[in-house]
Amino acid sequence: MTHALYTHKACGTRTAGLAELEAHIRVCPADRPQPEYLSAAETAKYVRAALKREFPGVKFSVTSKTFSGGASIDVRWVDGPTAKTVDDVINRYAGASFDGSIDMETCHDHWLLPDGTTKPASSPGTERSKGYLPAYKTGKPHPEARLVSFGAKYISSDRKFSPDFLRSVAEVVSKRYRQDPPEVGVSDYDGRGYFKEEGPAVTDFYPRFLSQRIYHVACGTPEGGEVADERW
Ligand SMILES: [Zn+2]
Repeated sequence: MTHALYTHKACGTRTAGLAELEAHIRVCPADRPQPEYLSAAETAKYVRAALKREFPGVKFSVTSKTFSGGASIDVRWVDGPTAKTVDDVINRYAGASFDGSIDMETCHDHWLLPDGTTKPASSPGTERSKGYLPAYKTGKPHPEARLVSFGAKYISSDRKFSPDFLRSVAEVVSKRYRQDPPEVGVSDYDGRGYFKEEGPAVTDFYPRFLSQRIYHVACGTPEGGEVADERW
């Protein structure tokens, strides 16, 4: 049995067989125009618009900064939607993913649609390095879609709780366990609410359990249990 050598002329990659060549072409970005690079500041504009669209009425702070070798975008807000629902939106504007199983990142190009939403366009993935992120390449989803490379690899999110919000969650959760709610303090640094560790209500009843349960409910994580089903 002979192995013919096939070459993808667009990039010079050689494969041992036709099936391998076809598999390569499906994910090879070479026969496609170069993506348009959007700076972190330009990307941040799209992130702001997406947050406004998805969470109308919620105030977000979106800041970008550039440093040697990279850029970052930070999203901050108080109360409002959970971090997970916000991450699901902002991650559509991140230029890379990190594969923790092999400590390797892979970049993504995106299709930017006229309404400001995105669709994944292509990524080399990490599977060829034994990671778990697959390579992919998708067709233009809209005649006016632009192929772009976003200026920040990662977009971080930081949700703070106001003292009032934390108090109201603490009240409901504590009532469920027939306890007095733990005392909420206010940070001098940024005004965020937190639980005072020394309150009598906290030390009387499984201190960690109760305050952690309240945090889980406030964060909207599954560990909040049945109380988390109530709407916050
Ligand atoms: Zn190729």
